[in-house]
Amino acid sequence: MTVEKRFYPQEVLDFLASGQAESLSPQEILGWALKSFGQKVSLSCSFGAPEGLVLLDMMHRIEPASRVFVIDTGRLPQATYDLIDRVRERYDKRIEVIFPRAEDVQAMVSSRGVNLFYESVDARQLCCRIRKVEPLERHLAGLDAWITGLRRDQNVTRNDTLKLQLDEKHGGMLKLNPLADWSSERVWSYVRGRNVPVNRLHAEGYPSVGCDPCSRAVAPGEDERAGRWWWEHPETRECGIHVGEEEKGSGI
Ligand code: SF4
Repeated sequence: MTVEKRFYPQEVLDFLASGQAESLSPQEILGWALKSFGQKVSLSCSFGAPEGLVLLDMMHRIEPASRVFVIDTGRLPQATYDLIDRVRERYDKRIEVIFPRAEDVQAMVSSRGVNLFYESVDARQLCCRIRKVEPLERHLAGLDAWITGLRRDQNVTRNDTLKLQLDEKHGGMLKLNPLADWSSERVWSYVRGRNVPVNRLHAEGYPSVGCDPCSRAVAPGEDERAGRWWWEHPETRECGIHVGEEEKGSGI
């Protein structure tokens, strides 16, 4: 499924072209997005990294009815499911849980096996495509803009992430990355300061928690994304959601 080409009012395009967003705080960017798009902008939160939870906390303080979604691939760790419910209770918030198409998952695992991702990069990307990318694209089709927790220093594939950019991979849709210039230390400082709920696997050495079979703890000093698809080279360690032909390196 391809997301339809997006067209925005001139004032939105002018704001984007001005580059002003780069000097704004995350809260200012979120406030602008909520004012501009209301219920047509939503936060993509994996519940497996602190960045998404920081943004959820910030957005909820600005607008309690702000939207948040998670892609449930069917292979998430129990710790992530527990966190989703904990956040739902803490903020009294509706979390939109988006699933892959059952028939696609069934066909894939029947023909390629349930653990096909270890066979090759192609097999892993097929699994990510069916379990993550397709449901994301289906969900984005109903939105005008989306928000992610990407940061520039997370990985070599994310070095040139902007706070506001047109996501050519998804029909030129507006993608907001309010934490693009934040460091990991700053994220954790916010988490501690606001007592934001986070995934308990972080305390076991997982800086980033994805699907259970594709995530592992990392050694001190290792790249933050080194525990994701650890058997692959760093350049391929994206699920296809954030890397497009015209956008290299802009949760999931
Ligand atoms: Fe499949 Fe692993 Fe990608 Fe999850 S992270 S969708 S299990 S390949």
